Amino acid sequence: MTVGIWVLGDQLWAHQAALASAANAPVILIESHRHSRERPYHRQKLVLVWSAMRHFAAELEAQGRAVTYQKSTDFEPPLRQWIEHQGITELRVMEPADRPFARFLDALALPCPLTLVPNNHFLWSVAEFKQWADGRNSLLMESFYREGRKRYGILMEGSSKKDKPVGGQWNYDKENRKPPKKGLTPPTPQRFNPDAITQQVMQEVAELDTFGDLDSFDWAVTRPQALQVLDHFIHLRLATFGPYQDAMVTGEDTLWHALLSPYLNIGLLHPLEVIQAAETAYHEQDLPLNSVEGFIRQVLGWREYMRGLYSYVGEDYPNGNYFEHHQPLPEFFWTGDTPMNCLHQSIDQAKRTGYNHHIQRLMILSNFALIAGLSPQAVEAWFHAAFIDAYDWVMQTNVLGMGLYADGGVLATKPYAASANYINRMGDYCKDCHYNPKARTGEQACPFNFFYWDFLARHRDKLQHQGRMNFILKNLDKMSAEEYQAVRDHASQWHQRHNHPKPMLR
Ligand code: FAD
Ligand code: SF4
Repeated sequence: MTVGIWVLGDQLWAHQAALASAANAPVILIESHRHSRERPYHRQKLVLVWSAMRHFAAELEAQGRAVTYQKSTDFEPPLRQWIEHQGITELRVMEPADRPFARFLDALALPCPLTLVPNNHFLWSVAEFKQWADGRNSLLMESFYREGRKRYGILMEGSSKKDKPVGGQWNYDKENRKPPKKGLTPPTPQRFNPDAITQQVMQEVAELDTFGDLDSFDWAVTRPQALQVLDHFIHLRLATFGPYQDAMVTGEDTLWHALLSPYLNIGLLHPLEVIQAAETAYHEQDLPLNSVEGFIRQVLGWREYMRGLYSYVGEDYPNGNYFEHHQPLPEFFWTGDTPMNCLHQSIDQAKRTGYNHHIQRLMILSNFALIAGLSPQAVEAWFHAAFIDAYDWVMQTNVLGMGLYADGGVLATKPYAASANYINRMGDYCKDCHYNPKARTGEQACPFNFFYWDFLARHRDKLQHQGRMNFILKNLDKMSAEEYQAVRDHASQWHQRHNHPKPMLR
C-alpha cells in the first residue's frame, strides 16, 4: 500500500493528523485558482494562504518529505496525475473544517480511495461536541466554556487542578469592556516585510479582480513568524487585552487584540499552545486575571464553541433568515464611501488590512446589517470576502448566528441590536461624524438610531417572546405616535436612497 497525503491550505501544521498518520508518505499541496475565483476573497487573504502554503511546502521538504506543489486551475486534474504518477493506493486528507469543501471531497472521482483523518486543529472533536450538546435544553457558550476549562485543566485549581476556577470566578467580564480613555497608547503590532516568496505571490494576486488593498501586506506567513506574533501578544498586549476589549478608537486598528485568528485558522498556530502560553504568562508574569481569563475564553470558549456548533447544526443553517430580511447590501460596503463614520472607518480598515476587531465586526458592521434588514446571506458573503481570517466554519455561526440572529436564537439569547448610544459610549467615531448620535429623527438623525427603533417596531411580535427584550420594547411603547412614524419613514427613505447595490467590488 502506498499512502499519499494531500495538505489543504488551512492545514499547515507539521503535526496535523494526516501528516502524522504516515511519517514518510509523499505530500501534495495544490493552489487552485478556480476555487479562488468562485467567490471574492480579500487580496491579503489569498497572499497569506498561498505564501504560507509555499513556505510550508519548503519546510516539509527540508524535513525530508517528498513534496509536490502544484498551481492549477482546479484540484482534481493535478491530484489524479500525482496519484497515478506516484502509484498511490490510498489518499489521506485531514477532515476539512468547512462543510462545502467536505462535500467537494466527497464528490471527487479519484483513481484510489480517499481516507479522511479526524481533524486535530481544534481541541474538541465533532463527536465530543455532539456528546456535550445532545439532550441539552440550551447550548449556552458559558456552560461549554466551563466544561472546556475543566476538561483541559485550564486556569483551574484545587486538588486535581480540575476542581475550582482560579481566583474563584469563571468570568471577569465586569472588569473588562471599558470605554476608551483619552490618550490610550496601544503597542504597535508585530509586522513582517514580505520576503521573496510573498512578493511573488503578491504580484500574482495583484492581477486578480477581487476586494481589498494589497500593498500594505505585512502579516506573518510562517510558523516561526506566527510564534513571534504570539510572543509579542503575550508580552506586550495581553495584560491590557481585557479592559479595552470592546473599545473602538480612530486610527488604532488593533488596540490590544491578539491578531492571531489568521494563523490559528490556517494551522500555523494550534489553539492549545496559544491558551497555554496565556496561562503560563499568568502564573509566571503575574498578569491580571481579568485579561488572561478574558482572552482564554475567546479561544477555549468562543472559538471552539463556534466550530462545534457549526458541525452540530443542520445543513440548512446557512439559509436561515429568522427576521425575513431581504434588503440588498448597499454599495458602500465595498467602498467604505459613506458619511456614517463608524461604518466608513471599519470598512476602510477591512479594505486596507483584511482585519477588524470583534466589536467592529459585531456592533458596527453586523449590527447595522441586522437593524437595517439586509439579507443575511448577502452579508455573510461580504464578510467572507472582506476578512483575512474568514472561513465557512467560523463565519456561519458568527455572522448568521451571533451577528444577524438569522438562526432564530440557536446561539444568542437575544439579537445583538444596538443604537448609536453603544457606539458613542464605546468609541470615538461619533465625534467626527456627519450624524448626531443622540438624534433619532430629523436632518442629522443617526441611521443606527432610526433603524434600531424601526427594527424593534418591525419585529415586535418575534422579539416580545424573548424575555431579555421586554424592557426595551417598553421604551418603544413610550414613543409618541409622531416620532414612531418619523422613525419608520426615515428607515424606508434611507433604503430608497440606497437601493442600488453593486454586485462587486473594489
Ligand atoms: P482577539 O479579539 O484577540 O481574540 C483572540 C482569539 O479568540 C481570536 O484570534 C480568535 O481565534 C478567537 N475568537 C474570539 N472570538 C471568536 C469567535 N466569536 N469565533 C471564533 N473565534 C473567536 N473570526 C474568525 O476567525 N474569522 C472570521 O471570519 C470571523 N468573522 C466574524 C464575524 C462576526 C460578525 C463576528 C461577530 C465575529 C467574527 N469572528 C471571526 C470572531 C472574532 O471577531 C475574530 O476571531 C477576532 O476579531 C480575530 O481577531 P484577533 O485574533 O485579534 O482576536
Ligand atoms: Fe456611527 Fe451614528 Fe456615531 Fe455616526 S453618529 S459614527 S453613524 S453611530
